[in-house]
Amino acid sequence: MATLTSLWRDRSTIETDADLDERYDDLIVGAGITGLVTALLLARSGRNVAVVEARQVGAVTTGNTTGKVSLLQGTRLSHILERQSERVAEAYVEANREGQAWLLRFCDDHGVPYQRRPAATYAADRAGHGAARDEHDAARRLGLDTRWQRDLDVPFPHVGGAVLDNQAQLDAMDVCEALVREIRQEGGTVVTGHRVIGAPLANPKRVDLDDGRQVHAQNVVLATGVPILDRGLYFAKVEPQRSYALAFRHPSPPELMLLSAGSPTRSVRDAPSVAGPLLLAGGQGHTVGRGGSTVAHLEALREWTHSWFPGAEETHAWSAQDYASHDGLPAIGALPRGRGHVFVATGYGKWGLTNGVAAALSLAKQIHGHRATWQTPISRRITRPSGALELGRLNAAVGLHLVGDLARAELSSLRGPAAREPAEGEGVVGRRGLLPEGEARVDGRICSVVALCSHLGGTLSWNDAERSWDCPLHGSRFTPDGEVLEGPATRPLRRPSSPEE
Ligand SMILES: Cc1cc2nc3c(=O)[nH]c(=O)nc-3n(C[C@H](O)[C@H](O)[C@H](O)COP(=O)(O)OP(=O)(O)OC[C@H]3O[C@@H](n4cnc5c(N)ncnc54)[C@H](O)[C@@H]3O)c2cc1C
Repeated sequence: MATLTSLWRDRSTIETDADLDERYDDLIVGAGITGLVTALLLARSGRNVAVVEARQVGAVTTGNTTGKVSLLQGTRLSHILERQSERVAEAYVEANREGQAWLLRFCDDHGVPYQRRPAATYAADRAGHGAARDEHDAARRLGLDTRWQRDLDVPFPHVGGAVLDNQAQLDAMDVCEALVREIRQEGGTVVTGHRVIGAPLANPKRVDLDDGRQVHAQNVVLATGVPILDRGLYFAKVEPQRSYALAFRHPSPPELMLLSAGSPTRSVRDAPSVAGPLLLAGGQGHTVGRGGSTVAHLEALREWTHSWFPGAEETHAWSAQDYASHDGLPAIGALPRGRGHVFVATGYGKWGLTNGVAAALSLAKQIHGHRATWQTPISRRITRPSGALELGRLNAAVGLHLVGDLARAELSSLRGPAAREPAEGEGVVGRRGLLPEGEARVDGRICSVVALCSHLGGTLSWNDAERSWDCPLHGSRFTPDGEVLEGPATRPLRRPSSPEE
């Protein structure tokens, strides 16, 4: 299978700076939407700001979205109302309204194209009807002017949907490029290819880089998707959810941004391109490392698209993950035991283009000693029992995986070494001595790693579509050779010792 690249990331690399200084007012870790908007807001207010990014600008989730900038977000609002008071749910909508307005204003000011489209949460069949209807009711209760539409004028099966007019869609990499340009014009620095590996508890104003250097700052913002420091245990309060997307040339894609209310999820939108209109289809979500063959997920999405849009010609395939919180709301604010100098934002549940901007607006205000009006009800939320049950479910699933790993380890140590030669594109986990060993064959080369996540020791699964080792516990991912791709891990995988050692 060819390397997966999103429609948006299929472009030349965004120009950034060569290196970091030793000291800044604010150091932002991560060049996705959250980090870049936070950096810009702080740079505009005259602060000396740097962004440090482990990979490339937008390389992880922001550059791999479906690019909908919408207040109607699948079944998100009814999900929040089940777990939170109406006041908290209203604050969530307010935060997203502010995030959406800021982002579209930024696009207007910087010539970044976007298209206005209605958004729809639709029911594919009678089973999904109740959930879509509940979302319609929740949205109206929270002040959004949704209407129920029986016929959505799309070729695939549906029994109606909630529709909200005048939402937007864009290419998030266009946004990232304009953000980086303005950060640098404002005197800020954006550096890629440097991973932060930690920050000492005793000195929260310092971060350590993977090349051995240290950078000092008054404030450190961890805009890393899920926080890379474990102090707030955020990794245990969010679920890493991976899903898939495909782009196709198609003469008449629906000019409506759709997301199904039931399962399997289907997300559809159009995208203009110089070569004619494109159709985007997404879905097949699952918890990272726990969904079976990832090739099979892409194939299912492909089949669905071909059956309802015959003749669609595929141009791009990709996959990405985001973090869904147990209580349905993002976590934005100061990291525990960071002495008020370390900030985090996570848990956008696949709606980060509005939530990430809202988080950035809030974090920049917090650094200046102020508070966004919607932040207080969100910070002081008291989650209903359904949210607490969800937290229990997340961690029970993680616990079950750990127990399963131990049982498998016990069995395979009785059986002795089990590794077999992997075929091209395949990864297998066997056992040599006490540790599970992963072997993958990529482009004819055998890559060997100790298949234990460098974050908290989960046994890794092979992701056949993306050729990566994925952790089923908290979503860290690694290249075949064990370098970190994403997730809470900051250190590479160990290499197996040779038999002589
Ligand atoms: C398939 C999919 C479709 C989606 N579609 C939509 C959509 O239509 N609309 C919407 O609103 N949202 C959507 N989302 C969600 C949205 O894309 C994310 O919520 C958002 O992009 C997250 O932005 P971020 O800046 O927090 O994280 P990221 O974009 O992941 O950025 C974090 C950055 O931090 C860097 N980093 C991590 N660790 C370190 C470290 N130790 N040192 C240095 N750098 C580090 C990473 O390399 C990365 O570049 C979608 C998500 C998925 C998975």
